[in-house]
Amino acid sequence: AVDLDTDFFRRWLALCAASVERESARLTELDSAIGDADHGSNLRRGFTAVTEALARDDPATPGAVLTLAGRRLISTVGGASGPLYGTLLRGAGKALGDAPEVTPEELALALREGVTAVARLGGARPGDKTMLDALEPAVTALGEAPGDFAAAAAAAGLGALATVPMRARKGRASYLGERSMGHQDPGATSSALLVAALAEAGGA
Ligand code: ADP
Ligand code: MG
Ligand code: MG
Repeated sequence: AVDLDTDFFRRWLALCAASVERESARLTELDSAIGDADHGSNLRRGFTAVTEALARDDPATPGAVLTLAGRRLISTVGGASGPLYGTLLRGAGKALGDAPEVTPEELALALREGVTAVARLGGARPGDKTMLDALEPAVTALGEAPGDFAAAAAAAGLGALATVPMRARKGRASYLGERSMGHQDPGATSSALLVAALAEAGGA
């Protein structure tokens, strides 16, 4: 297993940025069906700012890496997803404290705290057709098998696919009512990318 040190978390965020860059057009296309066609560009702006901040500030611990990234997402992304993803990373970072390296169990618990904070901020629950439909199964899988990032990524991917038939109850897509059905949620899709990047950082 890889060391969950500062370098691992930097690697994870760099892989998130690369994945968002690669999939930006697809995320925006999904958002054009049930939103306002900006999810890809929102996340690109956010993760570009994260990459710049990590290069400039050189945070020294896993917790500081995630907290800095979360703060940048909150301050640079105008859409709903910025504050939500920012809260996820900031919440997880805060839970990790200032340890130079963390255990798989500590990371699983920290991400669970981050997801709880996202649910609190956005008021959504699994089944509402949001990012939580990918994040919740991912942190559940991680809680059952800490360190098994590939299993978490698989769970997030299935969770994103499962949003297709759902009717949106939160965010812009909820304005469409029944017409939101039959489309994959953009935020659940990007969440699956972020968890896949975690698996990649872990060497999967
Ligand atoms: P905006 O809707 O402001 O344009 P984005 O397009 O970047 O923001 O992000 C949209 C995504 O944000 C949705 O696909 C959904 O997954 C997520 N989202 C929106 N509102 C909520 C909420 N209240 N709770 C959780 N996720 C949400
Ligand atoms: Mg949008
Ligand atoms: Mg928008």
